[in-house]
Amino acid sequence: MLLRSWIESANAPDHPFPLNNLPCGVFSTTGEEPRCGVAIGDYVLDVSSLEETGGLSLPGGPLLDVPFWNELMEAGPQAWAALRNRLTEVLAEGADDRAVVEPHLVPRAEVVLHMPFLVSEYTDFYAGRHHATNVGTMFRGAENALPPNWLHIPIGYNGRASSVVVSGTPVRRPWGQVKGPDHAAPAFQPSRRFDIELELGAVVGTPSDGPVTVAEADAMIFGYVLLNDWSARDIQAWEYQPLGPFQAKATATTISPWIVMKAALEPFRCSTPPREVPLLPHLQEPGPMLYDIALEVALQPECGVEAVIARTNYAEMYYSAAQQLAHHTTSGCPMNTGDLLGSGTISGPTKDSRGSLLELSWGGKEPIAIAGGTRTFIEDNDTLSLRGGCRGDGYMIGFGDCVGKVLPALADPYAR
Ligand code: MN
Repeated sequence: MLLRSWIESANAPDHPFPLNNLPCGVFSTTGEEPRCGVAIGDYVLDVSSLEETGGLSLPGGPLLDVPFWNELMEAGPQAWAALRNRLTEVLAEGADDRAVVEPHLVPRAEVVLHMPFLVSEYTDFYAGRHHATNVGTMFRGAENALPPNWLHIPIGYNGRASSVVVSGTPVRRPWGQVKGPDHAAPAFQPSRRFDIELELGAVVGTPSDGPVTVAEADAMIFGYVLLNDWSARDIQAWEYQPLGPFQAKATATTISPWIVMKAALEPFRCSTPPREVPLLPHLQEPGPMLYDIALEVALQPECGVEAVIARTNYAEMYYSAAQQLAHHTTSGCPMNTGDLLGSGTISGPTKDSRGSLLELSWGGKEPIAIAGGTRTFIEDNDTLSLRGGCRGDGYMIGFGDCVGKVLPALADPYAR
């Protein structure tokens, strides 16, 4: 049910940021340094200044005197709940403390958004069954689409934290080495098969040292962002065996600017699909660990009309973020505050629910229609937007768009 706020815009049934949501971002206004803010209706509440002036008191605080959310994340679930409880209290319809909050509200239209947290390390998974089946069918045939380990562990690789960027940051088409025809030498050239991957990113809040259970892993997660794992398919196809993707996915990873806290998503929990084969006990889930989050991908050519090219749902995943995080620790690998886990591409069962152009255009063989043209892979100056939200009873939980425009490749980066 909608929690009503005295900020009227937050009460609209389709608004992404009602009082139920309270997502965490980092913002700046003209001439000011970035600081922590929480989205509410058409405003951003400057929680850094609210804390500084005594309107918000957090256990172990101050925690918001830095332009990132890592300190609050590390403080743990008690501090996360304290933040939500206090903000829910002061922003609720009929609140006594309205005057405490009002000076710290900034119209959202006036802010620039920054990276909401310092990314410690970034790991990406391959945990969507429809995606893995589609890609496997294209490369190995339908018989051997899923690798033999796929139904037993969420497969992942260690990505790069250094190239994770916030929504709105342009992405430059990369150069890389690609396979030559037949026995010819490989070529070094701009990627011709540059692509997106529609994913959800889980943000690790509290650290671990040693193996954790799925339940413990779920408790460690602070929240979720939309994530676009930009992928150069031609570079990937040449480099990926036997150690997995490397430069193909190192150019950039874009995240949406607001971390939606796990608490806001609780009403939307749902179960992973039935297991085709039982998982070993340490990866079994004690309860529903996915979320019903409607997702879409839009593509807009330069000066063109935007087209929605895919619609799907996070509930399509075979493994949850909690299972991925638990698996990540089985070796004893410590996890840190600010670790980012990509879900893997989220594709649904139908042609129009595929979360990458590789799948949508079936390896480039079946161009998809957009207004005024077609696409196989991304063309220069295309803008790609990921969007997501949960629909509750009379309200939405929105994520804020995850947007990136692809700029043309530079001239040969080694010609100097
Ligand atoms: Mn990916």
